[in-house]
Amino acid sequence: MTPPTHADVVAAAGRLAGQANKTPVLNSRTADQESGASFFFKCENLQRVGAFKFRGAFNALCQFNEAQRRHGVVAFSTGNHAQAVALSARMLGIPAVIVMPHDAPRIKTTATRGYGAEVIFYDRVQDDREKIADDLVGSRGLTLLPPYDHADIIAGQGTAALELFDEVGPLDYLFVPVGGGGLLAGSLLAASIGSASCKVFGVEPAAGNDGQQSLRAGQLVRIPTPATIADGAQTQCLGKMPFQIIKERAADILTATDAQLVDAMRFLSERMKLIVEPTGCLGYAGALASGLPLRGKRVGVILSGGNIDLAVFGRLLAEADSQANSADRGNN
Ligand SMILES: *Cc1c(COP(=O)(O)O)cnc(C)c1O
Repeated sequence: MTPPTHADVVAAAGRLAGQANKTPVLNSRTADQESGASFFFKCENLQRVGAFKFRGAFNALCQFNEAQRRHGVVAFSTGNHAQAVALSARMLGIPAVIVMPHDAPRIKTTATRGYGAEVIFYDRVQDDREKIADDLVGSRGLTLLPPYDHADIIAGQGTAALELFDEVGPLDYLFVPVGGGGLLAGSLLAASIGSASCKVFGVEPAAGNDGQQSLRAGQLVRIPTPATIADGAQTQCLGKMPFQIIKERAADILTATDAQLVDAMRFLSERMKLIVEPTGCLGYAGALASGLPLRGKRVGVILSGGNIDLAVFGRLLAEADSQANSADRGNN
């Protein structure tokens, strides 16, 4: 498979018209006052299934041939890709099997089943999920749809940034969450024509900076599964195809700590009334932590998803509060 181009992102946008939500771009006076920048938040937490992943999945499944449609699709995913494949498959009348870790967030497994997919669980520690999926491909003739290492997925993910540039015009910076790199690669393609001088940064969890290391090394670096609250970015390695695009075009890959993600979750929920999952906050947290001169700049941020149990959301904020309080007491 050859990597997609800007034209493929535009074609994907055509397939998604009327199917994906054209998500809003929001501003925040407080965010702008605090930084001196003009922020543009692309709200993919308000996308169908609560994350941009619907874009890639629908774009890929649309292009299945007759036999592929009849036999069905299999995906392995901790969550948002699973829901995206499940919903897109149902919309297109394609059977879907999702292979998930048994400790995946309940909100995600319930939603995936709710979209009519068959869910098969595996043990993160003992089982090899790729082998499970391969066996299903062999025994049932299913087509495996990977979450990021696929041209149609990358092109679909790029439509979020395409819409952002169409709506607000060129930007100085764009900050994009990074797991396997599909969203970043697609965003880079969108920017290549939509905003050619825009510096596009990926942001990954500080606990697992494999993408940053890969960019520095000029080749893919694999790390152990990082321990972070950003469960959508716990990848060990960027995808090969995303990396081809990222190493040519990305300004850099930055990181954000879990504490910075929680700060961003608090700001986005309290000030902007947006529920954004930890992974979805990587772009904003990374922008603030970057040390880049944001003053006077037009800064795009992709809020990539909003799927989180609200009890967990509340607990993360409460834990951060109590840590801040005990630190205050320590200083007194
Ligand atoms: C999957 C996901 C990401 C990472 O996307 P990649 O294409 O794997 O880099 C970021 N945010 C959310 C909410 C996701 O679901």
